[in-house]
Amino acid sequence: MTRRRFIADEVSGDRAALVGEHADHLVRVLRTRVGQEFDIATGDAVRRGRVASVGDGRVEFELAEEVSAASLSEITLVLAVFKFDRMEWAIEKCTELGVSRIVPVIARRTDAHLAAASAKRVERWRRIARQAAEQSRRAAPPEIAVPIKLAEALNLQAALRVVLAESEERTLLRDVVSPDASAGAVALAVGPEGGWTEDELQCFGQAGWISASLGNTILRAETAAMAAIAVVASALYSL
Ligand code: SAH
Repeated sequence: MTRRRFIADEVSGDRAALVGEHADHLVRVLRTRVGQEFDIATGDAVRRGRVASVGDGRVEFELAEEVSAASLSEITLVLAVFKFDRMEWAIEKCTELGVSRIVPVIARRTDAHLAAASAKRVERWRRIARQAAEQSRRAAPPEIAVPIKLAEALNLQAALRVVLAESEERTLLRDVVSPDASAGAVALAVGPEGGWTEDELQCFGQAGWISASLGNTILRAETAAMAAIAVVASALYSL
């Protein structure tokens, strides 16, 4: 049986701690007691952790040997900001699928209210990503960047950069990812509910991004994000 995994809030040598709500969850929901063992992700490794003390808003662990953690390829998702409930779903599911970084962007068709409110959402998105990473036994949550303008995201570096566009009729995403072509890192860009504008697609093209399709049906933004990560992950990962 795999042990439950938590991502430490504090690490110092052979000690780690969960604090605040994170610790309360362990105590209230899992009824954690001194002596219980978990896997604790410490940022650079995952180690076996024995509960050394349980206090108010703080659970401390003694760390022992390293346990092996699945290594993940580097996949960045440039995600246009769209309806928050659906976007949260995309963040959770893409984390399960192995995304390493999510960069929210304000697109032309991002609703103005959502754009204005998006910076304040980052902490919540990070919390969602951390919970999903623990659930998926990842060694670390994906990095969630603060929302930026599309123009800045266009300069992002990766060996393979693909903008997903439902208007693309010649190139399929699965045909542009291959394990060697993308050994460096892959960046994928998914548009908002209304899609990328023609201008935006042109800017992607001028900046060197390849445009690709996910198939014959129009997907909602959150479905497109998950499908794109799944296609890339299935091409890159091995057991
Ligand atoms: N404007 C569209 C919907 C956009 S879907 C409409 O006709 O309603 C939102 C985003 O999901 C798009 O910007 C694109 O990045 C992605 N997407 C959806 N379906 C896709 C497909 N079949 N191929 C590639 N990308 C797709």
